[in-house]
Amino acid sequence: VKYVYFFGNGKAEGDGSDKNLLGGKGAGLAEMTNLGIPVPPGFTITTEACIAYQKNKTYPEGMWEQTLEALKKLEETTKKKFGSNENPLLVSVRSGARVSMPGMMDTILNLGLNDETVKGLATSSNNERFAYDSYRRFIQMFSNVVLGVEHSKFEKLISEVKKGKGYSLDTDLTAEDWKGLVEKFKALVLNETGKPFPQDVMEQLKLAINAVFDSWDNQRAKTYRKINKIPDDWGTAVNVVAMVFGNMGNDSGTGVAFTRNPSTGEKEFFGEFLINAQGEDVVAGIRTPEPIARLKDEMPGVFAQLEEVYKKLESHYKDMQDIEFTVEKGVLYMLQTRSGKRTARAAVKIAYDMYKEGLIDKKTAVLRVAPEQVDQLLHPMIDPKEKYTSIAKGLPASPGAAVGRVVFTADDAESWAAKGEKVILVRDETSPEDIGGMHAAEGILTATGGMTSHAAVVARGMGKCCIVGCGAIHIDEEEKVFTVGNITVKEGDYITINGSTGEVILGKVKLVEPELSGEFAEILSWADEFRKLGVRTNSDTPHDSKVAREFGAEGIGLCRTEHMFFEGDRIDAVREMILANTEEERRKALAKVKPYQKEDFKGIFKAMDGFPVTIRLLDPPLHEFIPHTDEDIQKVANASGIPFDVLKKKRDELHEFNPMLGHRGCRLGITFPEIYEMQVYAIMEAACEVAKEGVKVYPEIMIPLVGHYKELEMLREMTVRVADEVMKQYGITLKYLVGTMIELPRAALTADEIAQYAEFFSFGTNDLTQTTLGLSRDDSGKFLPFYVEKGIYKEDPFVSLDVNGVGQLVEMGVTKGRKTRPDLKTGICGEHGGDPASIFFCHKVGLNYVSCSPYRVPVARLAAAHAAL
Ligand code: PEP
Ligand code: MG
Repeated sequence: VKYVYFFGNGKAEGDGSDKNLLGGKGAGLAEMTNLGIPVPPGFTITTEACIAYQKNKTYPEGMWEQTLEALKKLEETTKKKFGSNENPLLVSVRSGARVSMPGMMDTILNLGLNDETVKGLATSSNNERFAYDSYRRFIQMFSNVVLGVEHSKFEKLISEVKKGKGYSLDTDLTAEDWKGLVEKFKALVLNETGKPFPQDVMEQLKLAINAVFDSWDNQRAKTYRKINKIPDDWGTAVNVVAMVFGNMGNDSGTGVAFTRNPSTGEKEFFGEFLINAQGEDVVAGIRTPEPIARLKDEMPGVFAQLEEVYKKLESHYKDMQDIEFTVEKGVLYMLQTRSGKRTARAAVKIAYDMYKEGLIDKKTAVLRVAPEQVDQLLHPMIDPKEKYTSIAKGLPASPGAAVGRVVFTADDAESWAAKGEKVILVRDETSPEDIGGMHAAEGILTATGGMTSHAAVVARGMGKCCIVGCGAIHIDEEEKVFTVGNITVKEGDYITINGSTGEVILGKVKLVEPELSGEFAEILSWADEFRKLGVRTNSDTPHDSKVAREFGAEGIGLCRTEHMFFEGDRIDAVREMILANTEEERRKALAKVKPYQKEDFKGIFKAMDGFPVTIRLLDPPLHEFIPHTDEDIQKVANASGIPFDVLKKKRDELHEFNPMLGHRGCRLGITFPEIYEMQVYAIMEAACEVAKEGVKVYPEIMIPLVGHYKELEMLREMTVRVADEVMKQYGITLKYLVGTMIELPRAALTADEIAQYAEFFSFGTNDLTQTTLGLSRDDSGKFLPFYVEKGIYKEDPFVSLDVNGVGQLVEMGVTKGRKTRPDLKTGICGEHGGDPASIFFCHKVGLNYVSCSPYRVPVARLAAAHAAL
């Protein structure tokens, strides 16, 4: 097996396509070598060797022999000798995984120095100070990385010398000073490890290679992999490269740069450099680097060369590159090139520009912008220049950031906001009654609840920043304070919350407004050319519908009618209806609600002129509407004329132990047909009225929580009867559909039967996840994060569809449904409809559309295009 790949003299054994084997750095070095770009020669030991080594901490057969061979070749190429005291070859030993894991693994520079070779380096470079400075750096780095001696212990020795001599800078130290320090360093190593610093250069090399291999499994790297979902079995390559020195005087230096601005995407060479320095000086922040543009004045020849190289690299890789370089006595060497990390804003601009420059095609441009990333562009965010520390962290339920004064009740939120205050609503959890306060607040923070809890769903729908399940905060509503450890936050205190990260910050942090730039809009329109999935929105108000249209939604996939029931005084009428004892009383109360619903529907139809609107009939468990306090019951008594005691008794009767599996969804429609009837009247009358005004309406009436086809059969009959009656009354015929949600396992399993009565299916994957996994969507936030941490579920199944489990039911639902009704329209309207990974799955199983909250629409358009490409 070939474990070692050489590069040098303009030729490499590997190339840029070998990232998996050579790691990103190794592949980049090989590719640059082949392109004729100046790269110091060296060799790469493969990731396969690393994986083999991990098994029993020994090299796989042949690896060491191949390493020695490559080393010999390196000596020939550089005309230097490893371990020689005349013209010694020094190398750097650096890690390099498939994807960059910045700072996670180890690097050693100047390897090959010992008490003898340092003399050779002094002679060959004609610079004794440089030689001993390099040696002490090597001892410091090697001892830290390989032998585990703390860096600070060395720094302390340097400080003592500086103090003793009255120096302020490292550069003040002379050759003699460094020589003295080398002795002290070696004594320190002996003292700390019980062994002298290794003088055998072969031993040094072996230990360094082992250290890099081992660093794949250090805690930092493991944690980084977990966060970034990098598999543990990729391993890291080891790059052994001939040293070039940026610290050989003022005609030398080192730098890092991006071929375009990684923060704004502007087409400008961007980066920094340091004269007379080695790489780690830049990273360690010991000296302040200068902007790269200054290199033009200081080393015009080198700058011209660098410009040529970066242009060559960009046109070769056809992407923005992140490069590292060193200048040794006026000669430029490239040490690394890779695709540069960038902000969402930069990703959009670079993709757009590169397409316009003819560097990439449209498809590539669309693929260059990650759907997960663009969410950043749609909400106010914390100014990236701001520095802050957070006091607590919850689940990042709805992105963006908000600043405001703390309030603890929805009523306070509304009244404070009415006085012009910006507030953050802080609650244990929210309920539908809090809608007004949530709306009035800048952002929402809850102590409990998961990613699909009420607060999370509603806030996302509103495009409002929200953190849920922030267990570290303890709310005392009575005292109007919350505490985190020993910090107390009072009502009226300012906090900042970051819904993109879940961070809670004390005080005000500066925010920046989102930019929906022309370029972003254009890239989304390119995405539309490629995607197969339709993208609709979940919206219950004319305002949200308009927002969603502006973001490119092609209709509404879910209008939750119950949210309308909480606006203003309507809730009283709704409560009256629910607590009514007879059909007659119920009809009386319903008659009060109907005009409101009708007006709302008209507004939504108008905002969605020309697009389909799926309206779901009443769904939530009754308990959400029931008045709980005596005060509220009295209100209902006053409005309805039903005695207080009767209402109170009724309230107790309606109590459910498990409301989510209780009297909700179509079960309400079956037991109280007049509720659904009223809603269908409101929908169809609204549709007919706006149609008469010239609006193109396509109502789709959706029955929730169906588990048996007979439920749908009954409700469909009622719906068609009422719709026909209304259309006849208005004297027009409208195209409308009747369909159902698939949100119970039984519905998916019997989708063929249900499809007899449904013209469309919309997968309600919030409930389908809850009922399939047997996990409460409202309560599981307390322990689900632990499950994710332990890797039982890779992701929160309420955020990213559980493809292996729930996904099977979705696929079965589509297949069985279409068997009965080939032209069955299928979509998804659970929260997963805005999640890129789930959208990929929806594309794969052939759904017709996804539906998500307005602010996720651009993300979904892009993700749907990625899925199709
Ligand atoms: C669902 O269950 O996925 C759904 C969209 O309905 P709701 O979230 O309103 O229960
Ligand atoms: Mg549901």
